[in-house]
Amino acid sequence: IVETRGLVKAFGDVIACGGVDLTVRRGETVALLGPSGSGKSTLLRHLNGLTRPDSGEVRVLGVDVVAARGAELRALRRRVGVVFQQFNLVGRLTVMENVLCGALGRVRGPRYGVVTWPRSLRAEALEHLDRVGLADRAYQRAGSLSGGQQQRVAIARALLQRPELVLADEPVASLDPETAASVMGLLVQVCREDGLTMVCTLHQIELALQWTRRVVGLRLGEVRLDEPTELLDTVRLRGLYLSDPVTVP
Ligand code: ATP
Ligand code: MG
Repeated sequence: IVETRGLVKAFGDVIACGGVDLTVRRGETVALLGPSGSGKSTLLRHLNGLTRPDSGEVRVLGVDVVAARGAELRALRRRVGVVFQQFNLVGRLTVMENVLCGALGRVRGPRYGVVTWPRSLRAEALEHLDRVGLADRAYQRAGSLSGGQQQRVAIARALLQRPELVLADEPVASLDPETAASVMGLLVQVCREDGLTMVCTLHQIELALQWTRRVVGLRLGEVRLDEPTELLDTVRLRGLYLSDPVTVP
């Protein structure tokens, strides 16, 4: 349901993607690993049209993302849930209101700048909050939650969108190791339960090994490794980072 062919993207002299071929099938959970600057985020951003390639093809959920404009692109983005490193919640709104924002593409309006959320949507939002273990925080200000809790809210918000594909750029990089592991586990678990395809970028090799089914290793904008997680180990994955000036995780 994701396919890139010969994807090239350069920023000046820097080649962020140097001809990437990536195929992701429905239901897969894939981690993009690689040193800082290897092009993980850039590749991910191409998948919902946030970045346009210099050349190559990008097809996501049957849509030609390179050709898509305006309404077609918006329609695609409604089918793609995103989870960011910095959670991107509205801190002064309640947890519930933040989750409901995930359904903005599903309701009519907003008319006169006011959205009236159908009761059924509120019930659905509460169900997702329950799945991420935060039903009892629904009417608290989102800004008052811890980082791990905020990311759980962001996951519930993405789920309420009823996406077919979830993209997560460093979803747990801002969290302490213990919280990172539990939030990553939760993200993978809810995606599997709902049969969603998930592609994420990660810094921690261990989290990729523990939670994802397949690892795509990037280096200098090129795919250097693409294998089922069960065939990989820490030693082989560290090879991706060797001779790199940046620290090996
Ligand atoms: P990190 O692990 O640090 O998040 P990454 O693998 O996600 O790194 P990218 O953010 O995709 O790497 O960046 C790949 C290369 O492209 C880097 O050298 C970066 O400086 C460059 N780059 C990315 N976006 C831009 C931009 N908008 N303008 C200029 N250069 C960019
Ligand atoms: Mg990145």
